[in-house]
Amino acid sequence: MSRVLDLAIALIRRPSITPDDSGCQQLVFDLLEASGFSIEWYIQEGVSNCLISHGDPETGPTVMFLGHTDVVPPGDESSWKYPPFAAEVNAGYLYGRGAADMKGSVAAMVVALQRLVEEYPEHPGCLQLLLTSDEEGPAKYGTCVVAKALSDQARVPDYCLVGEPSSSSVLGDVARVGRRGSINASLRIDGIQGHTAFAEQVDNPAHKLAAFLAVATKLRWDAGDDLFPPSTLQVSALNAGGIATNVTPAVAEVKFNIRNAPVSPQAEFKLRLEAILDDLEIANYQLDWHVSAEPFYTQAGELTTALSEACMAVLGHAPELNTGGGTSDGRFIAPLGTQVVELGPLNHSIHKIDEHVAIADLDLLMAVYFDAARRLIL
Ligand SMILES: [Zn+2]
Repeated sequence: MSRVLDLAIALIRRPSITPDDSGCQQLVFDLLEASGFSIEWYIQEGVSNCLISHGDPETGPTVMFLGHTDVVPPGDESSWKYPPFAAEVNAGYLYGRGAADMKGSVAAMVVALQRLVEEYPEHPGCLQLLLTSDEEGPAKYGTCVVAKALSDQARVPDYCLVGEPSSSSVLGDVARVGRRGSINASLRIDGIQGHTAFAEQVDNPAHKLAAFLAVATKLRWDAGDDLFPPSTLQVSALNAGGIATNVTPAVAEVKFNIRNAPVSPQAEFKLRLEAILDDLEIANYQLDWHVSAEPFYTQAGELTTALSEACMAVLGHAPELNTGGGTSDGRFIAPLGTQVVELGPLNHSIHKIDEHVAIADLDLLMAVYFDAARRLIL
């Protein structure tokens, strides 16, 4: 049986619901320790992170694989045809929570690293695997903790390959070279509560909020660019009034999420929202602004070339490079100056019931990772 499939099964059978690692990282390290890798643990607030390394960064580039061992909850387990933590195999597919996002990728990375060290025991540079158990959760004590330590210690990797499931129709048809930013904002408008029959005595914040949303939800913020789709604003919650049918609300609140392209930096976005409020002569407001991810983008370079060549060699096609999808932990590594690209399995079943991955794709993914890292480090 395939080494990648074996390991993917062992990982899925550990129910590592975020931020619980359930011993996945130790299992991975036990395999890599036998190949001469060493480990640094970064454990904080119930989140397990580890950096597993082989080689000497003084002698060549550092190539990092980045992955996560945590998974999203399975939801109602009785609705799964294949139990989420049983790792059942059927008709060429491996089923289970995390099969595609991203225990399959982690298994492929581990076997690629074992093979690299087997075939090139004296390789220049440093091969690394960074794992976190808090990618699917708030990510507060996850990859960012290790990224900060690496930055503080001047040990920034040159290249980072993230195993997020980027593929759309066939393995390796899409790789991500960046992601839009994500901003969570809330706007609170205060007014004067009163009787609905006495309009002149009230200051209705719901009407002001409606006016604001009429503009903010229709505006075309930017056109995006060659690599990024246009920025978007989506309302996630809306709240005002409800005291009685004849009482106006004292407060109206909206929460929204913005996905911003680099052409619309977050600070500029905020100024534009404030300008809309000014234009509407809304003064009594509070705009809370939380940037959960800045947009990032890796220029075409050694990493995109190595990955494209590896995909051509193994799969017979080069991936389309784009920036679609949500954000990923690549957002913590890219600001260090590292080239970051994401390539992983098909993403059509992630976070769903009966999540699965094609078994053949696991070995192909391992071969792509192996070949890309080989091209970068030798
Ligand atoms: Zn993931």
